[in-house]
Amino acid sequence: MSINFSDDNFDQVITSTTILPEDSNEISLRPRYLNEYAGQEKAKENLRVFIEAAKLRNEPLDHVLLYGPPGLGKTTLASVIANEMGVNMRITSGPAIEKAGDLAALLTNLQENDILFVDEIHRLNRQVEEILYPAMEDYAIDIILGKGPSANSIRLDLPRFTLIGATTRSGQLTAPLRDRFGVTLRLELYTPEELQRIIMRSAGILGIDIEPDGAREIAGRSRGTPRIANRMLRRVRDFAQVRADGVITKPVADAALTRLEVDYLGLDALDRRMLRSIIEFYNGGPVGLETLAATINEEAITLEDVYEPYLLQQGFLTRTPRGRCVTMKAYEHLGIPFNGQSQLEL
Ligand code: ADP
Repeated sequence: MSINFSDDNFDQVITSTTILPEDSNEISLRPRYLNEYAGQEKAKENLRVFIEAAKLRNEPLDHVLLYGPPGLGKTTLASVIANEMGVNMRITSGPAIEKAGDLAALLTNLQENDILFVDEIHRLNRQVEEILYPAMEDYAIDIILGKGPSANSIRLDLPRFTLIGATTRSGQLTAPLRDRFGVTLRLELYTPEELQRIIMRSAGILGIDIEPDGAREIAGRSRGTPRIANRMLRRVRDFAQVRADGVITKPVADAALTRLEVDYLGLDALDRRMLRSIIEFYNGGPVGLETLAATINEEAITLEDVYEPYLLQQGFLTRTPRGRCVTMKAYEHLGIPFNGQSQLEL
């Protein structure tokens, strides 16, 4: 077997937060109950109370909105909620529901207390969204029969259900939709310790030989994101099998990830390009997001949803009313001398 670790695609995709074909075994790694779900203590604490109360009253859980960057466990948490409630979950996504009738069909097929999970809920079209309002509020939908002056509207009762919506930013939702969620939970980037636990657990499920230090090394470089942590674990395993004796130790993890151009803080080539461009072309900032996106030839939304959260959390970047600025830490990390000419100070 030969694995080409210098393959160009490797470094570009390893830190991607979207699902890649190689992530197909993600499902087997998904925690099923709250006690297996690492991190997100605040969200879990709230959920425990809501779930228990709903069960006591024998009612469906209030509608839940989950928001946070991709790969943090929104879909996983929705299925954990379904398991804890002991109900079925139907999964769909905003762009997949094209017509009002598609949503009506989904809703009328639910059983009492079931969960409907709508990923990327901010991408629902207006017409579909309007069907959701009475469905969420009154467990009913209004169906129009016929056309023109003779059209008739009939109200159809639905089983009492829970809608769980997921979005990368709650600000992208329209106000009427946002207001109809009783529970809003924001998922945070994970700490290296939490990611280390996730990696050790995944390694156990996949039968991968790993030392705690090796897991810690991967954890520190996975941008606070379990999806990336699990993917790095598999890539490092390949490396360990081909170049080492199969065991993931700290030096093995370090060598593999350095090869994949992920540096010791988890920054990849695009992060570094983004920071470097702000320094080289805009004197450290501030620079508007759209301008920056055009400079490095990326979509502004990708920079904002996928790259920025980690760079902000790590203190490489700040957001100001006039745009994005890099910090001294970014200069230091990239090894670029600071010339004291930041536009922020001018
Ligand atoms: P999102 O819906 O936010 O994009 P997912 O729920 O698909 O993210 O999570 C991606 C993967 O990360 C899951 O398949 C799971 O293996 C892992 N994962 C996410 N959150 C956790 C967690 N809290 N504990 C353990 N594994 C997790």
